Amino acid sequence: MEKLAEACERVAGTTKKLEKTAVVADYLKSRTPGDAAVSAVFLSGRPFPVWEETTLQVGGALLWRTVSELSGKTEHELTAAYRRHGDLGAVAAEVLPARSGGSELGATEVQEKFRQIAAARGPAAKGALVRDLLSQVTPLEAKYIIKTMTGDLRIGLKESLVEEAIAKAYSGTLTEVQRANMLLGDIGETLKLAADGRLAQAQMRLFHPLGFMLASPAESAEEALSYFENAAVEDKYDGIRAQAHFAGGEVRIFSRTRDEITESFPELPDALAGLPQDAILDGEIVAWSYLAGETGRAVPFSALQQRLGRKKVSDEMIRRVPVAYLVFDLLYAGGDLLIDRPLRERGKILDELLSGPRKAVKVRPPGAQGRLTFDSEEQTAPALVIRAPVFQAASPEELDQLFEAAQARGNEGLMIKDPESAYTPGKRGKSWLKLKRELATLDVVVKAVEYGHGKRIGVLSDYTFAVWDGDRLVNIGKAYSGLTDAEIAEMSKWFLEHTVEDQGFRLIVEPKIVLEVAFNNMMRSDRHESGFALRFPRIVRIRTDKLPEDADTIERARELYEHQKN
Ligand code: AMP
Repeated sequence: MEKLAEACERVAGTTKKLEKTAVVADYLKSRTPGDAAVSAVFLSGRPFPVWEETTLQVGGALLWRTVSELSGKTEHELTAAYRRHGDLGAVAAEVLPARSGGSELGATEVQEKFRQIAAARGPAAKGALVRDLLSQVTPLEAKYIIKTMTGDLRIGLKESLVEEAIAKAYSGTLTEVQRANMLLGDIGETLKLAADGRLAQAQMRLFHPLGFMLASPAESAEEALSYFENAAVEDKYDGIRAQAHFAGGEVRIFSRTRDEITESFPELPDALAGLPQDAILDGEIVAWSYLAGETGRAVPFSALQQRLGRKKVSDEMIRRVPVAYLVFDLLYAGGDLLIDRPLRERGKILDELLSGPRKAVKVRPPGAQGRLTFDSEEQTAPALVIRAPVFQAASPEELDQLFEAAQARGNEGLMIKDPESAYTPGKRGKSWLKLKRELATLDVVVKAVEYGHGKRIGVLSDYTFAVWDGDRLVNIGKAYSGLTDAEIAEMSKWFLEHTVEDQGFRLIVEPKIVLEVAFNNMMRSDRHESGFALRFPRIVRIRTDKLPEDADTIERARELYEHQKN
């Protein structure tokens, strides 16, 4: 682990990408493939490979307490160190007692300890294991162990650079490494294949989420049609993005944050289990009213929200808030990876897959009373998995009409897609455009919270939030309205558990929560680091479906600012 930590220090010491990848490549080559594989996972800022979905469930507060105990420093001294570094790993390196020589632990042993921590139940058991681990290592090792545990090394090294380093250190081109990593969801396994010269043998591993293709905003119908000849147009549904994997009768569903959400929607696996082929579907889960119109329609996101984040969904909840899965893409079917095929072809295969005869499976009635009732428990065409309708538009006028119709159906707006485009996992390009007509919104990350006033005294209701400027989060505003009392109470609890620095009247919190913030306009201002301030900001919703890295950038803020001037 000492060698890995030293390599990380060298990576942090340069801003040049080529030098970073060279340091990583040299380090990887100096290790056995087994140890290099685990190191590659850590260097990507994760304790475990993506596909495993194991999480440590160790918060910043627990790590803070452990560092405090092991260092014997006062709260005041630790806070002062935190102010200097802004990173608990770096604080640990400064305050933990020195040891002579590196620890006995290699990356593989450290990951074994991580597994024990992940498996332990409750903060006390986890705390004891974390303490045990950190007391066996040098301050420098502790620095990178803590950074890996918090999921962010902050040394300017992304997984994409680790892929480059693997291509440099072993066999294979960068494209081959990227592809293997995408298929396997495991940078460590990818490294082992590269070391053996077997990258081409990487097989799609189902049941780990692939990256989601993302859309860029279009400001107008004209702009939306300016990037490609013909446009495939779909409604933009206001729910949560979901990737469903189906093979051998097993179904698992993943959110955009790559979390498994199958349990939140127990009625969907039943509906998907009848598909005739193994498949990976991409779509949006929405709350659905089976009573409206012929086929029903989506209902606002707030209805769906009641079903999110629950471990167990009661039958009553399934009945009260029925859902539908609107499927708009197909990434894999019957053994073939389809992402490189054009959307038009993927769409056709998807049509066949969803319209073909489905095996009779036991389907729980979705609780729709009224028009859609089920007379028996055996149902051959479950209505809750729906192919999202695709329309064509060749002119801005046609697009405007589709837009009005989409909004009349209660949907947010339109998605305009290039029928010739491949599916590019994890990328935001101009092949998918989203058209919404509303005041601008920004997705921001909460960095600090304060206690409220008046009726909100005693709860953390004032949030300071930021957008990305490179790999830094710069503040852009502060807002204190928009959420319900219940949401504020729940958020307060989370913030207290994830405080990294208590400044009395305000708490600096782990930058994990993403909010969608609406505002009337934007101003230049010195008040915030970003150089902008938002006028009348209000929180539209908590974006539990987004990770901090999905939040908006200073470039996007600048675009909005420039745009409003016209
Ligand atoms: P946004 O969350 O505002 O960045 O918009 C992109 C999101 O719109 C996607 O991640 C999906 O969750 C959602 N969405 C809704 N309908 C569609 C659709 N027909 N095609 C693609 N994405 C959609």
